[in-house]
Amino acid sequence: EGQVVAMRVLVTGGSGLVGRAIERVLKEEGEAREGEEWIFLSSKDADLINAEETRAIFEKHRPTHVIHLAAMVGGVYKHIRQKLDFWRNNIRINDNVLNASHEVGVVKVVSCLACFQQYGRRYTAGIPTNIFGPHDSFNIEDCHVLPGLIHKTYLAKKEGKALEVWGSGRPLRQFIYSLDLARLFLWVLREYDEVEPIILSVGEEDEVSIKDTAEAVVEAFGFQNDVIYDTSKTDGQFKKTASNAKLRKYLPDFKFTPFKTAVKETCDWFEANYDIAR
Ligand code: GDP
Repeated sequence: EGQVVAMRVLVTGGSGLVGRAIERVLKEEGEAREGEEWIFLSSKDADLINAEETRAIFEKHRPTHVIHLAAMVGGVYKHIRQKLDFWRNNIRINDNVLNASHEVGVVKVVSCLACFQQYGRRYTAGIPTNIFGPHDSFNIEDCHVLPGLIHKTYLAKKEGKALEVWGSGRPLRQFIYSLDLARLFLWVLREYDEVEPIILSVGEEDEVSIKDTAEAVVEAFGFQNDVIYDTSKTDGQFKKTASNAKLRKYLPDFKFTPFKTAVKETCDWFEANYDIAR
C-alpha cells in the first residue's frame, strides 16, 4: 500500500512454459522487486489472434512493460502438418500485441520472435534456442523433442515397452531450461537497453545430439527397456547452432543449470503432475 508502481509488466503467454518459469523465479527466488507489478495473461483472458480482444485487455491493464511470450507453438512434426496456421496465427498475434502496446504507451516490449524498431520505443527480442521445463506441452504428436521423449519414456516404462525415438538421433540442438530462460528474460527486461535482439542460449559447446537427449531422459527415469530409432520419421534440421557470445559479454558469470539436472527436474515434475500436464 502506498507504494508507487513504476513498472506494470504484462506477460502474454503467462500460463505457458516460460511464463510459469518467470512467475516461479519472481515468487520463489526472491527476484520480485518493489515498484513492479506483474500480470500473467493466459489464453482464457483474451484471444490475441483477435485485434479487438487484444486492445481491450491492454486497455484494461494499461501495462508499461510487456514480455510477449504468447504464440502458437509446437515441435517439428506439428510444424510440418500446420505450417500455414503457424505463420498466420503468429503474425496476427505479434501484430496485435505490438499495436496494442504502442497504443497504450508501453515503453518496453521483450518478445520472443518479432523485433520492431519504431517510434523510438524499446521493443526488442530475446531469441531462445530449444526450451524445456515444467508446464511445457507434453502432447506426444505435437510437442517438442524433450517433452515428447519424457512422455514416451514415462509410458514405455509403465507398459514395459521400448522407447521409440523419432528420426536418427543424430541431429544436434542447444537446449535451455525454462527457469534459466526466465532469469535471462528478467535481465533483458530490466537491464538490456539495446533494440538489437539478443540470443538467449547455452554455449555452442553445450550442443547435444538427440541420442544424448534421449539418454538423459532414460537415465532420469531409470528406464531399463530398449531404445529404438524410427528412421522413417524425418530428422528436421540437422543443427541450428547459435552463438551466445553477446550474452556472455554482458553476463560472463551466468550459471546455466546443468543439462542432466534440468532434465531430471522436468521428468520429476512430469511424473508428479501427470494429471495436469498438457
Ligand atoms: P526442432 O528443434 O524445431 O526441430 O524441434 P523438435 O524439438 O520438435 O525436434 C528436434 C529433433 O528431435 C528432431 O530431429 C526430431 O526428429 C527429434 N525427435 C526425436 N524424438 C522426437 C519426439 O518424440 N518428438 C519430437 N518433436 N521430436 C523428436
